[in-house]
Amino acid sequence: MDFEHIPHAAPVPSATRDEALANPGFGTLFTDHMIVIDYDADRIGSEGDGWHSARVCPREPITLDPAAAVLHYAQEIFEGMKAYRQEDGGIALFRPEANARRFNASAERMAMPQLPEELFIESIRRLIAVDQDWFPTIEGGSLYLRPFMFASEAFLGVRPARQYKYLVIASPAGNYFKSGAPAVKIWVSSDYARAAPGGTGAAKTGGNYAASLVPQAEAIEKGCDQVVFLDAVEKKWIEELGGMNLFFVFDDGTVVTPPLTGTILPGITRDSLIRLLREEGLTVREEPYSIDQWRDDANSGRLVETMACGTAAVVTPVGTVAGRDGEFTIGSGGPGQLTTKLRDKLVGIQRGRVADTYDWMTQL
Ligand code: PMP
Repeated sequence: MDFEHIPHAAPVPSATRDEALANPGFGTLFTDHMIVIDYDADRIGSEGDGWHSARVCPREPITLDPAAAVLHYAQEIFEGMKAYRQEDGGIALFRPEANARRFNASAERMAMPQLPEELFIESIRRLIAVDQDWFPTIEGGSLYLRPFMFASEAFLGVRPARQYKYLVIASPAGNYFKSGAPAVKIWVSSDYARAAPGGTGAAKTGGNYAASLVPQAEAIEKGCDQVVFLDAVEKKWIEELGGMNLFFVFDDGTVVTPPLTGTILPGITRDSLIRLLREEGLTVREEPYSIDQWRDDANSGRLVETMACGTAAVVTPVGTVAGRDGEFTIGSGGPGQLTTKLRDKLVGIQRGRVADTYDWMTQL
């Protein structure tokens, strides 16, 4: 598909931009372009697959009809990924085809159209090509990319919309943790669930995150950093954090991570860690692990580390777990050996410092 280039009337002055790039934080600073592609089911057939009018344009507010379906029934999906400046000065993406696949898996669950994987990756290439001066200048920075799609059709009936918009915006991001990875304290939510069997937990859709805000606020109120969700039925099995998957490391060299049964997000970091762990010679089992067992194993010393993982923070140690029945500490309460080793390896691959023997990186 051809992308039309709509020129920028007033780009951000480079002095202002350079100042912001020295300390970008997360999620509040944006590059000055965006990608937009429209979809109309009524064009399917003679005019192609429904996707049309791809463009690279100045980042600006979008207008929506007040009846746009997304505003009423939340037909919306998104992805989160990062572009990394390489040691040699180039730019690379980490497993973008995995994000493209997950985007389409989310689209399927939310009754939205499939976006061809090549078009997803091409859209990201195009945005980075025009905004490559927006990479943070601080150590450990990256360009966070946010592709998303929503139902734009003006229609109040409850059925899948016939018109959608796909956009990509980009946000320079600082180092999530300024020095190394401090252990996080997490709160076990007893009152709230994130996703139920048969629901939308495996899709990256806004509603899942809306549902996590009150339990996350509760976690903060309890002096914790993040909330951990249990399964919605038995309130017994550990699922995931609001934005990260979990791994449990035992003293006999086995590692357990909750299975992908449809209620948790299939993290790309999770998938990558399973591979790295197996290559370290460890046994990884995708099986349910209960909150009671977690407490017992941490107290007996059988459990030596717990890692949380995701695009934002890569691999982060869980130090303390608090809940209605009190709290427990994992290992020394600080970063464990395996957590640190895996984090260094993954960050090394993403930055082009460690050989990418997995073919995970896409150079742009
Ligand atoms: N779980 C949830 C609910 C998330 O939002 C994320 C972040 N996308 C993850 C897990 C980790 O996924 P990934 O490793 O692909 O970033």
